[in-house]
Amino acid sequence: MQVKWDQDKCQHAGVCVKSLPDVFKVEDGNFVIDTTQATDEAICEVTGKCPAGAFTVTE
Ligand code: SF4
Repeated sequence: MQVKWDQDKCQHAGVCVKSLPDVFKVEDGNFVIDTTQATDEAICEVTGKCPAGAFTVTE
């Protein structure tokens, strides 16, 4: 599974980083997504909650 993040759409609401901090995190000033740290189901649930629609999930 691949998760793409659109920086221009992100409103920095923090839903993703608060919901799954091991997956969605900021390292060295860059937003990173580590899909190995949770199940696909859990990640999909959080990406669906993004109020800005900043995530695109592909298999
Ligand atoms: S949930 Fe969406 S808007 Fe909020 S920080 Fe994450 S990507 Fe940005």
